[in-house]
Amino acid sequence: MSRNTELFDRACRTIPGGVNSPVRAFRSVGGSPRFIKRAQGPYVWDADGQRYIDYVGSWGPAILGHAHPEVIRAVQEAAVDGLSFGAPTEAEIEIAEAIAARIPSIEKLRLVSSGTEATMSAIRLARGYTGRSRIVKFEGCYHGHADSLLVKAGSGMLTFGNPTSSGVPVEFIQHTLVLDYNKLEAVEAAFKEYGAEIACVIVEPVAGNMNLVKPLPGFLEGLRALCTQYGALLIFDEVMTGFRAGPQGVQGLMGITPDLTTLAKVIGGGMPVGAFGGRADIMEHIAPLGGVYQAGTLSGNPVAVAAGLTTLKLLAEPGFYERLSEQTRKLAEGLAERGRAAGVAVSGDYVGGMFGLYFRDAIPTTFDEMSECNIELFKRFFHGMLIRGVHFAPSAFEAGFVSAAHDDAVIAETLAIAEEVFAKL
Ligand code: PMP
Repeated sequence: MSRNTELFDRACRTIPGGVNSPVRAFRSVGGSPRFIKRAQGPYVWDADGQRYIDYVGSWGPAILGHAHPEVIRAVQEAAVDGLSFGAPTEAEIEIAEAIAARIPSIEKLRLVSSGTEATMSAIRLARGYTGRSRIVKFEGCYHGHADSLLVKAGSGMLTFGNPTSSGVPVEFIQHTLVLDYNKLEAVEAAFKEYGAEIACVIVEPVAGNMNLVKPLPGFLEGLRALCTQYGALLIFDEVMTGFRAGPQGVQGLMGITPDLTTLAKVIGGGMPVGAFGGRADIMEHIAPLGGVYQAGTLSGNPVAVAAGLTTLKLLAEPGFYERLSEQTRKLAEGLAERGRAAGVAVSGDYVGGMFGLYFRDAIPTTFDEMSECNIELFKRFFHGMLIRGVHFAPSAFEAGFVSAAHDDAVIAETLAIAEEVFAKL
């Protein structure tokens, strides 16, 4: 028996499903997960000593490649001075300044420890600021596991949704409207009907939780205009895209200014850091200045902040995003080309250091189109790659991540393996 299988069996005895976050369990692709022992640059090694080229990248944070020496050194140095104080530190100011200096829509921000906390807090703030209850989210966008966000669309366009998790009372999601991503008409209709009651629209400005779906021209601009017109706040959830799609996230690429932004993943450099921020007059509604309560024992943790701050410093090197984006383009286009050459209906897209690979002819623009991808084919592709030493995300609905350590040789090796796998599909 492989050591991975042995560990998985053992994990399942004390950890539900053997994992601490469900997608890790390989449920949607079958088989058992690889237990990772160590990682370096573009590679991870599992418990059997097998090396993989890694496109999971810790689900986004590993933008510099794994275990970047400067990040590791910063963490070690910070740890020596103590792990947590429950009192403010200078490093928290530095990371707040670094983020605010780069993302102009963020005048003030607060640190938390995960993306879930960031979105949950941003929504509470939007409700507290506007004095309204309803929120709008989009099918296929994931914003963490706060109760009011675990909801999928109901049967009619403006009917209220259904919880996607048991344990979420319908009363907790009765204020959440779930609409179709990239369909502005539905948002217009929602504002016509409920405009005075909508506190905020929360959106992944490039959706990375239904594989990768980009906004159609006019969609985000339309959301901006509608929110302004009706006095609702626009929240860009850039937990995944922040400092990943580009140096100022998607908002910088598109030139759109949200009222609030949520961040996590890259800003923690692999450690638990999230943040939400935006206009100062809105952020000042948070305790202790205002009446919106929000707190955290480990918020702004010095060791985590050291990893994030060092990561942000390294991202500021000239040409970083141009190179990252070019490597990602080579991978996404290369995979699609090799698939098509083998007669497989496959397409690929990318932005900055994230990519989508779709088992359908054309790049999807909606949740419904994304759902038409051939999942059976994806599973076979996934396992074919895994066995040959390339680790993609174990789900057809997740974006992939490229790091600065994925150089030409690594991309070429990936494409050569993909050619072999596509030929056997
Ligand atoms: N928002 C987005 C866009 C995400 O991709 C995620 C996590 N994948 C979250 C929020 C939740 O973040 P976390 O897992 O850190 O709670």
